[in-house]
Amino acid sequence: MTKQERQKRMQQLDEGIRVCVKCPLHKSRTHAVPGEGPIPAEVFILGEAPGAKEDQQGRPFVGPSGLLLERSLMIAGLNRQEVYITSCVKCRPPNNRTPHVNELDTCQAAWLNQQLDLVNPEIVVLLGRVAMRQLLHEQWSLQKIHGEIVQRDKRQYFLTYHPAVAFHVPETRASMEEDMVRLKQLLAASVSR
Ligand code: URA
Repeated sequence: MTKQERQKRMQQLDEGIRVCVKCPLHKSRTHAVPGEGPIPAEVFILGEAPGAKEDQQGRPFVGPSGLLLERSLMIAGLNRQEVYITSCVKCRPPNNRTPHVNELDTCQAAWLNQQLDLVNPEIVVLLGRVAMRQLLHEQWSLQKIHGEIVQRDKRQYFLTYHPAVAFHVPETRASMEEDMVRLKQLLAASVSR
């Protein structure tokens, strides 16, 4: 598929996401939050679910977690404009609860898998347990596995904390920053850069 075809297909996906009613989360949303960034992109960042600010603006990671994510990306030598950013579910769960399994699975099958195919990243950065569980079907302790790369089905996944957790727990924040240094090294070593 050419770059233009990928971008066109992604626009169509975004339009579909904005009007999606495939799971109950659509009932309480203000705006669905598709994702944003270049297509294709070397790095695909995956969060959990939109929060209040994202729901208001229809853009991913524009609230407090977004600030910390942007700081982390800077440590990894990346800026927001050069990575693709989205979340496992595209609509804010009521009161920011954890998305339910049926919501996660529905959203992945309808949208996330296609986003991954179209962005075709070198590395997928999984932010937090929900993203790790959803894409790797693993229940690992992030305390043990953060900063590691996992190879699955021809893709590389990099595991780190969700910025919302890092925001509140100073040790986690320090670990996430160390992870970002590691990510920078991994990206520098990757042949395509
Ligand atoms: N947390 C997420 O996982 N995604 C967002 O877009 C915002 C906060």
